Amino acid sequence: MWQARQILSLGCRWRIGSGDNIRVMHDPWLCGSANRWVPSPQPAGVYQLSVRDLLHENYKAWNIGKVRNLFSRNVAEKILETPLVSSVREDKVVWEEERNGCYSVKSGYKLAMRYLIGSDKYHVMGNWNGIWKAQAPHKARHLLWCLCRGCLPTRSRLLERRVKCTLNCPVCDEEIEDELHIFFKCAVARDSWSAAGLSSVLHNATYQQTNAMDRIFAVCGNESSDIVGRVAMLLWCIWHNRNDKLWNDNVQLPRQIGRNAFDARNDWYSVHKLQSNNVSGTTKADLVRWEKPALDWVKCNVDVAFVSGSGRTSMGLCFRDSSGHFMAGMRQ
Ligand SMILES: [Zn+2]
Repeated sequence: MWQARQILSLGCRWRIGSGDNIRVMHDPWLCGSANRWVPSPQPAGVYQLSVRDLLHENYKAWNIGKVRNLFSRNVAEKILETPLVSSVREDKVVWEEERNGCYSVKSGYKLAMRYLIGSDKYHVMGNWNGIWKAQAPHKARHLLWCLCRGCLPTRSRLLERRVKCTLNCPVCDEEIEDELHIFFKCAVARDSWSAAGLSSVLHNATYQQTNAMDRIFAVCGNESSDIVGRVAMLLWCIWHNRNDKLWNDNVQLPRQIGRNAFDARNDWYSVHKLQSNNVSGTTKADLVRWEKPALDWVKCNVDVAFVSGSGRTSMGLCFRDSSGHFMAGMRQ
């Protein structure tokens, strides 16, 4: 909670006009030096201050002595840093990250990311771009992301978060289910690799790190986005099979899992390619546009279709005059 509050406070500033409406200390919590929220060390009366109390009486400027007397050094400097713009008449909170001063989720997210990346506690080092560049359906890339963030609900993760459950792998029932086991050590997973055409990649000595996250980042760092996409799809199918077994009692053979991954990735790829071809196709088609015939001329456009195998053909004609109006047409 304090995390979100801190990020909001990072992005907010007052735009001060009269100073009447802004209360400086209605909240007895301050951002302390270690970037944590701490109770204010000020006496209770200080909470009731408004900005006006901190300005000079006759002109708009901070009463520096008063601010420094009332607040701890850090807080006082923060207050004094807040610019008092003479053209501003009305008090309001502005969101610094947007030009118009209004909060948007996008800019809030950007600020949060900047903040998290600078914080050792929340930032996980790794080849995140490699994950998002993988040529695979988004659900498969998202699975890799969950796995590397440590938020995939394997049984050992659930237990870590105090969910009471058995620890054994729901697929083989032989070892504790953690990320390394379910995707890389479980006999069912390993047998599915070859059917997906990925055993040479996954057995590669370069990718035998002791935890699943390091293995994935290593694959992302060394393999093409095509191969990373295939691996992502396979891991997604392994995870899907695990859930299907657990919740629906559906059991698949390892080679079926691998085959599904192979087919699903190929289907996705062909559709994806078709879509990107279509996009460039429309732009080309847009460049070729129908033009009106010259004055006193009639233009006839013809189209013919063949239905293969049926032995049938059809045709259509369309006549238009020099202003582009429809004159006559026929189809057969
Ligand atoms: Zn297992």
